[in-house]
Amino acid sequence: MSSGNGKRNPYLLAQETFLRYAEAVKLNDRYPGLNLEQRLTTPDRSIEFRLSVTCDNGAIKSFTASRVQFNDDRGPYKGGLRFHPTGTLDHCKALAFWMYLKTAVVDIPFGGAKGAIAVDYDTLSLNEKERLTKRYAVILRNDIGHDKDIPAPDVGTGEREMTWIMDAWRMIHGKYDRGIVTGKPVSIGGSQGRRAATGRGVVFCIEEAAREHGIDLKKTTAAVQGFGKVGASAAEFLFEDGCKVVAASDVHGAVYCKQGLDIPKLIEHTEKSGSVVGFAGAEKLDRDAVLEQDVDILVPAALENSITSDNVKSIKARMIAEGANGPTTPNADEALASRKVLVIPDVLCNAGGVTVSYFEWVQNRQEFYWTAEQVDKELHRIMTSAYGQVSALAKKHKCTLREAAYRIAIERVAEACVRRGSQ
Ligand code: GLU
Repeated sequence: MSSGNGKRNPYLLAQETFLRYAEAVKLNDRYPGLNLEQRLTTPDRSIEFRLSVTCDNGAIKSFTASRVQFNDDRGPYKGGLRFHPTGTLDHCKALAFWMYLKTAVVDIPFGGAKGAIAVDYDTLSLNEKERLTKRYAVILRNDIGHDKDIPAPDVGTGEREMTWIMDAWRMIHGKYDRGIVTGKPVSIGGSQGRRAATGRGVVFCIEEAAREHGIDLKKTTAAVQGFGKVGASAAEFLFEDGCKVVAASDVHGAVYCKQGLDIPKLIEHTEKSGSVVGFAGAEKLDRDAVLEQDVDILVPAALENSITSDNVKSIKARMIAEGANGPTTPNADEALASRKVLVIPDVLCNAGGVTVSYFEWVQNRQEFYWTAEQVDKELHRIMTSAYGQVSALAKKHKCTLREAAYRIAIERVAEACVRRGSQ
């Protein structure tokens, strides 16, 4: 399978990457006749359905929605819920695929899932948003649960949507079960540190990589593509580490400042105005140019397929920390590897979010809550341990961090799958 030029179906790209690394670990030879390659590259279950919502003006609008439960060999299905026009079934399949690999890389007891509604969510009123989200939860009332499938925030969703889902589930089932979703507000059972967890995990990985390669973060520059929940918190932690974040972008545009952007002020500005655009003390930059800045560290934290064979030649960063899921196509990844660019792959780099989701689920099940310090310490332990294992394996096999992360995930999931038996 060749990935051709430019962008392609993310599910096919995800399968292609998996199969390449399954061959590297000799999956078929190790488990002959079990057809694990097919089993681990196709979802256990894909649910696609129509959602109809009554608008405030009485009109009825319909949307296509989905939930893909990809693999639960290592634990209940786990993964976010995306409200975005690109939220198609194949996107969901790719994202759910990466989720089960990610939970295996950081070794937390979950499988992988993802849900989506293909919707331009910002165009809906608050009441329409609530009706849409609760309707989604009602349709999936018997498919989600703390020991079945646990949704969480993703692009376009956050604490508000998770609360609505928990509320809808409670109304249907007549009982409280906080652990059916993660990423809730702290006031109703969310975890300290969940909001910034993905960005925090990204920067823990960058710190480990810097330590390993003798890089002083105080002497580095960075660019962040996607100044949303993940990108903005990653930028904030890099700023605290003394790294100069010179460029940042969002869907509306990008800003640049040679001396380094004042990230706390930029966050304040985006909270007020809804975009990085118009930030005082920074120059305007073309949105896509943020990827091509001459910086030490690039954090792609937007959507899939940002770094492709079309723009990979223009990427100048020495280190790429994948805050988004699937930001680099396989062809672009090969080109970066041949240029010895250090890519910290998504399935490791952005696993901080689901890791703190795991802490939230543990706290909900025990109804005993941790301090922010405890969450941070445990997240640091899990992320640095996973980084260390991936990096050691990459050295052993003289391969990329992505290949090493996939090797670890594939072996863990295959072992769990085979131990379960075949009946
Ligand atoms: N949406 C996030 C991800 O892609 C978090 C998933 C979760 O917490 O379950 O990793």
